[in-house]
Amino acid sequence: MNSLHEIAARLSSLDADALPVDAVHEVIQASIEPVSETQTVALAEALGRVLAEDLVSPIDVPAYDNSAMDGYAFAGAQCSAYPLRLQVIGAALAGHPYPNPVPLGACVRIMTGAVLPEGCDTVVPIERCTQDGEQLVVPETARVRAGDHRRRAGEDLRRGQTALAAGRCLTPADLGLSASLGIASVVVRRRVRVAYFSTGDELRAPGSTLGAGQIYDSNGAGVRGMLERLGIEVLDLGIVPDVPERLEAAFMHACAHADAVITSGGVGMGDADHTRALLARLGEVCAWSLALRPGRPMAFGRLRAQRGASTQRDCYLFGLPGNPVAAMVSFYALVRPALQRLQGMQAAPMPRLRVRNADLLRKRPGRTEYQRGVVYTDAQGQTAVRSTGPQGSGVLRSMCEANCLIVLEHERGDVAPGDWVDVLMFEGLI
Ligand code: AMP
Ligand code: MG
Repeated sequence: MNSLHEIAARLSSLDADALPVDAVHEVIQASIEPVSETQTVALAEALGRVLAEDLVSPIDVPAYDNSAMDGYAFAGAQCSAYPLRLQVIGAALAGHPYPNPVPLGACVRIMTGAVLPEGCDTVVPIERCTQDGEQLVVPETARVRAGDHRRRAGEDLRRGQTALAAGRCLTPADLGLSASLGIASVVVRRRVRVAYFSTGDELRAPGSTLGAGQIYDSNGAGVRGMLERLGIEVLDLGIVPDVPERLEAAFMHACAHADAVITSGGVGMGDADHTRALLARLGEVCAWSLALRPGRPMAFGRLRAQRGASTQRDCYLFGLPGNPVAAMVSFYALVRPALQRLQGMQAAPMPRLRVRNADLLRKRPGRTEYQRGVVYTDAQGQTAVRSTGPQGSGVLRSMCEANCLIVLEHERGDVAPGDWVDVLMFEGLI
């Protein structure tokens, strides 16, 4: 395994005070080794878990030719002269196949999903024809071609075909598909465990009383929520004051019990020094100044596994900035994809939508900005985005009011009303 510093050396040609987010993303991704242990879980426990091996279909889907409509089934070769008159000789229901071959000149009533009886390859929908006693009349207006309204065996999926690829984070639809193949349990990667704590002498836990100059710790609650959304097992290490011995103890504890640790605060250029010195003893760590707003300072590193600890892996460290919005934005831009890789997920980047921007957005070229926005439908019925207003990195309310992040790319300057912008929707994220 390359050392982090070898991997990070590729950043040395860039401006150290304003590292492009994409370059840092590449360095972090290249440093992360996914967890390899697997376990077998029942479908009922599998939502959000990461599939460890390809799920191969043991059967054809559908398993037999069947009807796509409620109607009448017969041999399509006889559909030349209309009105077509056929004798109704029986019925085929879902779960109750018609047992005999159907000769020319005859048909059976058939329900959606029922097996097409031998001799039948075509279905005419019930509402397009009339039945008079035992006689079915298919008028010219109900003209069908051989094979109409027939679902072929194996047309969705053939036996032996990969139904779901390894690395998928299992969705409700995936669970339904697995069940449709008769599969009751799946092999998934073990859950990733992440410890988190907030640093800062000024922080107090919500529920306690504030003294002078103190504030409530909001990052702990936010980080926990973002981790839980990823299906990660969390270990809450609370608030740690800016005291090197206390920080060291928290890092050691995290390293012994978790695959990664997320901290917030204390990584700005001024205060990173003692954290950096401490982490240099416990492993390797890089403290960066990103061209990202909000979210300039960020640390990333690896703490060495300790002898005798329950986990024998290195523990990744993500040091987020203290400002609550900056912490969340850095998490989504850099930590979330890193944790997905650690989970063994083959995650596609978050989809972006391109929409019209309604307000003047102030932006300096040379950094990536994630402004908080609200996607809405304008008076003309077009999708557009407006700003939530003040974009200060401590204004957590802006995250709550927003339903998306407006992505303003590195080189971009001010954005005028009417310009196109990319947005990342929050749905399922926040
Ligand atoms: P720092 O990065 O530690 O210099 O913190 C930057 C700003 O974010 C300061 O105003 C801190 O008080 C604030 N801050 C740091 N951590 C938290 C937290 N966990 N919750 C709320 N605000 C925080
Ligand atoms: Mg601080």
